[in-house]
Amino acid sequence: MPLPVKRCSGLAFVFACLALTSSIAIAAAEWQVIKINGHDYLSVDNISKFYGLPAEVVPSGAKIQTDTPDHPLEFVSGSREAIINGARSWLCFPVIEHDGKSLVSRTDLAKTIEPLVRPHRVPDVGKVQTVILDPGHGGHDKGQVSRYGAEKDFALDVARKLRPILQAKGLRVIMTREGDYFVPLEVRAKIANAARNSIFVSIHFNATNDDPNATGFEIFSFTPRGAPSTSDTALTSSSFNMQPGSGVDAQSMALSACIYHSVLGHIPEYDRGIKRARFAVLRLTKVPAVLIEGGFLTERGECKLIANKDWRGKLAAAIGVGIENYRALGVKKQPPMLVADYRKQTKPLPIEPVIQEGQVKEADASLINLVGKSKFVSPPQASTPPKKISLESDVIVP
Ligand SMILES: [Zn+2]
Repeated sequence: MPLPVKRCSGLAFVFACLALTSSIAIAAAEWQVIKINGHDYLSVDNISKFYGLPAEVVPSGAKIQTDTPDHPLEFVSGSREAIINGARSWLCFPVIEHDGKSLVSRTDLAKTIEPLVRPHRVPDVGKVQTVILDPGHGGHDKGQVSRYGAEKDFALDVARKLRPILQAKGLRVIMTREGDYFVPLEVRAKIANAARNSIFVSIHFNATNDDPNATGFEIFSFTPRGAPSTSDTALTSSSFNMQPGSGVDAQSMALSACIYHSVLGHIPEYDRGIKRARFAVLRLTKVPAVLIEGGFLTERGECKLIANKDWRGKLAAAIGVGIENYRALGVKKQPPMLVADYRKQTKPLPIEPVIQEGQVKEADASLINLVGKSKFVSPPQASTPPKKISLESDVIVP
């Protein structure tokens, strides 16, 4: 669905009007906040010491190393690209240089680095009873079409394969669509919002007109308020609006990390990264929500893989392991498994359990009827920019 990200360069001036909202608690003794043009930054050294994780900053324009597990935090000067715990992760704002120090925005510390490095400490993380599986597109909306078939069918098949895997783990599963018909985006979000303790997982396959060789996985969660999405180079006034997805952006990021590390760790496709977007299904869901792009239908090799049902089964199983790891965050309060852990383990992916079709369909249909075709009403949006929060008054991590 989305196009590949463009490297951001023109953020500086819009950054000047950014009000920071943070959800991590900063203990004054541990953090040295550096103010530049009225905005808060933390040095990479400071971040590295706080987490006890070795960090590295490569010069602007240099290629980031992806196979250096001795540096769990890797940044590129002047860029939003980073590798965090072995997976590409896109910051909201570029790393800047000041007085010989590499600096990361406070927004990224709170909204990107903290939920990626310590997802188990995100409030209410891992609370899952119901998984809403959202196969992208449907009906007249085919999504991308390759020579082997349409995105809408591949996405539905992955969801159908994933459903019994999750049910076997004791999770309730609701599909936003059971067959080849169109469901409006706001209805998909409404289905998620109607279920208690739910998470929302949207399944898509990727496409681009720009580069026929583009490959790989990527995953999206909702862009934090006041930050640009990964594919945007500038903020707009709507970037400051409070949305249903804003209240759970940290939990969504943790879910993104759990699923992405599993998918990338189980299937050796190119790592495009953990990204941010304001897609309708992410914006309108008030429960943790992610959208996964499981490879490119526009690339010769990957479209063949996607057309293979066993490969799709593997993808479904890998997403299932990621969801299970997200749930475990709430129970074990420990960091989840990372790409490298999955690659080290030799255990094969779980086998698909027996599908109990009739039972599931009944439950799903009744829920879809419940939310029906009623129009989703957006909550009132803030017309004033968010107020600036001082370090002292800011609530961060426990
Ligand atoms: Zn799509």
